[in-house]
Amino acid sequence: MANPSILILAGDGIGPEVMAEVKKIIAWFKTKRAITFDVSEGLVGGCSYDAHGTPLTDATMAQAQAVDAVLLGAVGGPKYDKLDFSVKPERGLLRLRKEMDLFSNLRPAQCFDALADFSSLKKDVVAGLDIVIVRELTSGVYFGEPRGIFTEGNERVGINTQRYTESEIARVARSAFELARKRNNKVCSMEKANVMESGILWRDVVQEIHDKEYPDVELSHMYADAGAMQLCRWPKQFDVIVTDNLFGDLLSDMAAMLTGSLGMLPSASLGLPMANGRPKALYEPVHGSAPDIAGQGKANPIACILSFAMALRYSFSMLDEAARVEAAVEKVLADGVRTADLMGPAGGVPVSTSQMGDAIVAALNASI
Ligand code: NAD
Repeated sequence: MANPSILILAGDGIGPEVMAEVKKIIAWFKTKRAITFDVSEGLVGGCSYDAHGTPLTDATMAQAQAVDAVLLGAVGGPKYDKLDFSVKPERGLLRLRKEMDLFSNLRPAQCFDALADFSSLKKDVVAGLDIVIVRELTSGVYFGEPRGIFTEGNERVGINTQRYTESEIARVARSAFELARKRNNKVCSMEKANVMESGILWRDVVQEIHDKEYPDVELSHMYADAGAMQLCRWPKQFDVIVTDNLFGDLLSDMAAMLTGSLGMLPSASLGLPMANGRPKALYEPVHGSAPDIAGQGKANPIACILSFAMALRYSFSMLDEAARVEAAVEKVLADGVRTADLMGPAGGVPVSTSQMGDAIVAALNASI
């Protein structure tokens, strides 16, 4: 069987810095676990604009479509702020998501015990938290027509339309149920079926897909506002939450912050299965290019490393190896190794991006 293939698009700012640490882990898998990834690299965002006048070339887009998984660092920076909208760095990322049809956005909120003090919630509420929000990413109110600002009589009216087809709901529901089967087998679907017709349809379709295809998974439904409350009150009651684009935008940011630093948060965006059964997939840290610390060796590479762990789990079904990487991160944090963003009020001496990567590789070595 062919080696699993990965396209690395490190991007701008701290993107290449954090990606350098992922490459150490990929190299570790080759030498210590005899798992070889066929890695290719390309440009996205500002660096692609600098080289080619576009944030993503057709050739790189074609490469992204051909590989098993894309691993992206971050795009953007002040240098590109004044560019025309059509060539802004973010357009490269949006093109990837759109053309790969990545409709299912997975945002885990996982709280490592060693960092439980970083949360704004009480330690016992968040310690050991491990949930995933599945957000529908390519439809809903951000895309529905009609949309725009119109004039009615002598005033303006702003319009956006929440629109979901059955098939759009069904495919993201399947993605959540599949994910739950790889975790604790529980899905909670969130909408506003009490006040929105699209919410009624959402609830119906999720229930139908469950009853026909995933009766073994525990399913519950919750209104999204009540869900937000429950996420703050007792987030550990959840395993997988599936919700639409708008509610998912809000709920995933909220859930992410339960866990502390932006430098810790990975994500995956998945599409339909390819011919080899693997889903189209793009993995990236939630954070941006952090121009304020770029080039200084201060960035925390953990979000990017955990994004790679998600690739191991969701693209390559290497569940043990994914858990091994996550355990190495946990070990390093438990040992008190901290990049600057993870220094608490007690202070201490932070490690550099590269030292954090080395510590995680050392923990991987200790795991075999
Ligand atoms: P940002 O995530 O880049 O940074 C926000 C703050 O968090 C900064 O203080 C930064 O230093 C810190 N931070 C972020 N990642 C960190 C890490 N790994 N380790 C330590 N600290 C970290 O968000 P921003 O400042 O709003 O945006 C900067 C640029 O990134 C903009 O051009 C924006 O458009 C772009 N952006 C890109 C993406 C993406 O590529 N997916 C996402 C968000 C923002």
